[in-house]
Amino acid sequence: METEKPFDAVIIGSGIGGLSTGIILARLLQRVAVIEKNPLPGGLMRSYTRDGVDCPVGVHYFGAFGEGQPLRRMFDYLGVTDAVSAERMGRDGPIDRYLFDDFTFDLPEGIDAFAEALEAAFPEDRRPIAAIVENLRAIADLQNSLSFLSSATIPSLDIDLFSPLAVYLTKMNCSTRLRSVLCVASSWMGLSEHDCPVIYHHLALTSYLLSAWRLRGRGSDLAEAFISRFAGLGGSLIGNDPAAAILTDGQGVAGVRLASGRVLRGTRVVAAIHPKAVLAMLPEGAVKPRQARRIRSLVETEGLFAANVAVDAQTHPPLPHNIYRLHTDREGWISDGVFYQLRAGREGQSHLTMITQSPFSEWRRWEDTTTGRRGADYQEEKIRRAEGLLGKAEEIFGSLAGGKIIDAYTPLTLRDWVNSPEGSPYGIMRSVRQLPVAAALNRAPLGGLFFAGQNALAPGILGTVMGSFQAVRQMIGYDRFAPVFEGLLKGPGR
Ligand SMILES: Cc1cc2nc3c(=O)[nH]c(=O)nc-3n(C[C@H](O)[C@H](O)[C@H](O)COP(=O)(O)OP(=O)(O)OC[C@H]3O[C@@H](n4cnc5c(N)ncnc54)[C@H](O)[C@@H]3O)c2cc1C
Repeated sequence: METEKPFDAVIIGSGIGGLSTGIILARLLQRVAVIEKNPLPGGLMRSYTRDGVDCPVGVHYFGAFGEGQPLRRMFDYLGVTDAVSAERMGRDGPIDRYLFDDFTFDLPEGIDAFAEALEAAFPEDRRPIAAIVENLRAIADLQNSLSFLSSATIPSLDIDLFSPLAVYLTKMNCSTRLRSVLCVASSWMGLSEHDCPVIYHHLALTSYLLSAWRLRGRGSDLAEAFISRFAGLGGSLIGNDPAAAILTDGQGVAGVRLASGRVLRGTRVVAAIHPKAVLAMLPEGAVKPRQARRIRSLVETEGLFAANVAVDAQTHPPLPHNIYRLHTDREGWISDGVFYQLRAGREGQSHLTMITQSPFSEWRRWEDTTTGRRGADYQEEKIRRAEGLLGKAEEIFGSLAGGKIIDAYTPLTLRDWVNSPEGSPYGIMRSVRQLPVAAALNRAPLGGLFFAGQNALAPGILGTVMGSFQAVRQMIGYDRFAPVFEGLLKGPGR
């Protein structure tokens, strides 16, 4: 097949990671392409419609989007802020309500308010609360300064921040209830408190304490904002054509071959997809066997099961906050939980989203099937589980009689939609144990190959977009990146 003019950069994957990397690069380089396997670009940020109801997938709420805060600064730089319609949570009540067996905790906006709420709820924990809040403030400053992207040395961090959250909270002598409350934030990244490094926990928690937001419109509007901005900058988005192979020559990467046979030449390839999928695209021997083995053996974040239900709006009006129903063991560590969001639905209805853990092993018997062709027993199992969740939801919301299950998805759905191994929702587990291998992904295994997306730096909307800036900095070097960093600090109106 005839080849076309080389690209300055080819990006694989059009999730928020791939598209944000594409936008930054399209501002700096001439010919930039983003490749997407699905007919519809956007990856996890794209919502889908069932029964006229917009069902979110990977964006239920996000943090640090207030004026001057890190996500807002990055969206400003990307030029998408004006196209994103979002509402701030926690203005007249909590952001989240945590329901435990024997107590409730409301997560407010702001580190000060959080400290006050903790002190009021757990007066015997004054000392650990003071120490933890001090750490949160330091991490918030670090996050707000975006210093991890600058060439300046990042202030050295307390070694305790790299230990597992559970170890840290035990060392701090936290009561069991304080432990339970603090552990919720690690679940936002698919990590248990025994695996979650304190630094990731603090980064996630502070980002939502800075400010928490929900999309007003459809998740797909967010995807469209990124797509149209990328197109407006002259980027080429090639959809419905999976990247099949990363081409190499003696020097490093040489381009990407698509499933259709089309070849995109270029000496810089950004993989905004799962690193295990990248390995499968590289020619034998392109990556050192030891590194390949390490990547293949990375443990994934645990799968999720989600159900969307239409309920009567009169008896169940939308709630401005999220609800987490959590169970803990006797020591206060979280054993399981369900996330609920009750939002406006179609006329006269509210839309209840329920998400809970569901390991891939529970769905393994259908692993050789594809979306839409999994058979009646799979459908029955989905309905059985969705009804089970609905039953549990009644303990919180009261009778949901008449509630209609609109749709449910499993780890297999996510696996097939975005190509994540075992349907891992947040990519590889960024556990204390896996941190060194995960961090090593930033040293590209091959010249001209870079990683972006949620596996590059951190999961979530904030973590993934940060990873895009980091990937570009690695690609172009500190000196050329300096104006990008200045642009990020200067904000809109540049
Ligand atoms: C159920 C769920 C709920 C979540 N809720 C939140 C939340 O409320 N707030 C939050 O901040 N984060 C949330 N997250 C996490 C967040 O959605 C992700 O961290 C983020 O969207 C990841 O973006 P990405 O670009 O790395 O990956 P993806 O969105 O997965 O994008 C990867 C893209 O690459 C494409 N692709 C894969 N293989 C190929 C190939 N061979 N060729 C071409 N294209 C390919 C895929 O189709 C996909 O479009 C949630 C995640 C899940 C699963």
